[in-house]
Amino acid sequence: MTARRHLPTDEARDLLALTREIATKELAPRSTEAEATETFPREVFSMLGQAGLLSLPYPEEFGGGDQPYEVYLQVLEELGAVWASVGVGVSVHALSCFGLAYYGTDEQRAEWLPAMLSGDLLGAYCLSEPHAGSDPAAMRTTARRDGDSYVLNGAKAWTTHGGHADFYKVMARTSDDRNGISCFLVPASAEGLVADPPERKMGLTGSATATMRFDNVRIDASRLLGAEGEGLKIALAGLDSGRLGIAAVAVGLAQGALDSAVAYARERETFGTRIIDHQGLAFVLADMEAAVVSARATMLHAARLKDAGLPFSREASVAKLVATDNAMRVTTDAVQVLGGYGYTRDFPVERYMREAKVMQIFEGTNQIQRMVISRSLAKDNAGQIG
Ligand SMILES: Cc1cc2nc3c(=O)[nH]c(=O)nc-3n(C[C@H](O)[C@H](O)[C@H](O)COP(=O)(O)OP(=O)(O)OC[C@H]3O[C@@H](n4cnc5c(N)ncnc54)[C@H](O)[C@@H]3O)c2cc1C
Repeated sequence: MTARRHLPTDEARDLLALTREIATKELAPRSTEAEATETFPREVFSMLGQAGLLSLPYPEEFGGGDQPYEVYLQVLEELGAVWASVGVGVSVHALSCFGLAYYGTDEQRAEWLPAMLSGDLLGAYCLSEPHAGSDPAAMRTTARRDGDSYVLNGAKAWTTHGGHADFYKVMARTSDDRNGISCFLVPASAEGLVADPPERKMGLTGSATATMRFDNVRIDASRLLGAEGEGLKIALAGLDSGRLGIAAVAVGLAQGALDSAVAYARERETFGTRIIDHQGLAFVLADMEAAVVSARATMLHAARLKDAGLPFSREASVAKLVATDNAMRVTTDAVQVLGGYGYTRDFPVERYMREAKVMQIFEGTNQIQRMVISRSLAKDNAGQIG
């Protein structure tokens, strides 16, 4: 029992079928053990790279899959339904490639992008700092120009893939002006760059999250992406797309929880009948289905605007807000449907619930999404037909 989908091309249908096969045969058998032991599955990302699943939304000329966002997000959803840590990792990797793909020079792209898109190199995205999450312009990490180099000092908190990535897309301050922030591609091998021990998290425990410390990290000036001072713009533009990635993973894990709940409710009996035949419980399942389907529609609407080259920032925030709030509700209800068993680690639904919580927090908390949406409404309420 999986989601009903409409995909635009035969190629997209094949891609979804391949993703489902990989998710079932390769991800599902590894996920429980890796989550329980808090082990980051680096080899899974190499495998996904070889299958072409790390490069889907990027142009073919750099080894990308040239797929519409609408298709890429449904692939992410399938991954998220089986293993959210991997779905989030794929989304963060895509985010870490964004600055180079869209703001790098031809020379920079030719040098680095193919290895990033093939998955030979795994990426991370360093925007947040210990005191600056929702307000990244308050960051303190600096990048000082010194001849043909920049020298970076500071700490970047919460880095997904921290300590495991091969390159870090880092936003750092190049002037005292609040928006005087620039974007750099820092290799993991740079001297002075070290990872703290990983955070001990409530969920998503197969995904390593660590503070990265920069102690006089010297990098070649050619590793600046875009112009000095463009870093915040690059970071936020990437987040519009990244938020759709998180929405997709959230829809996936809500679908996974719903599937588990329905399968259980069709088997479990109380008072002489299946629990799915008690209306009080059946309506909970109906509301879960409505929440998943409407979240998916919201996400695909934003993706189609993006694919058509239309503004989609407000809709991306709506999708992130709706998909992650719905995922929290659906996964919590899935635990309820399974009764006492739902509260144990013998069934996957408690894990889905723990994973759903962080989706409301990262890539802009849901309060910040409401801020983005309401600011956009205050500026421009005009509809656009494209
Ligand atoms: C597992 C995990 C992985 C992450 N991965 C990455 C990563 O790879 N790269 C990266 O750069 N960051 C990453 N983050 C950081 C994440 O993006 C931040 O945690 C998030 O943006 C919130 O920032 P904060 O934790 O500093 O909370 P704060 O900004 O301190 O916010 C605290 C609370 O106040 C609310 N709040 C803040 N400002 C307002 C306002 N103006 N109006 C209303 N409410 C407000 C927030 O919504 C929140 O509820 C990750 C975080 C987690 C937990």
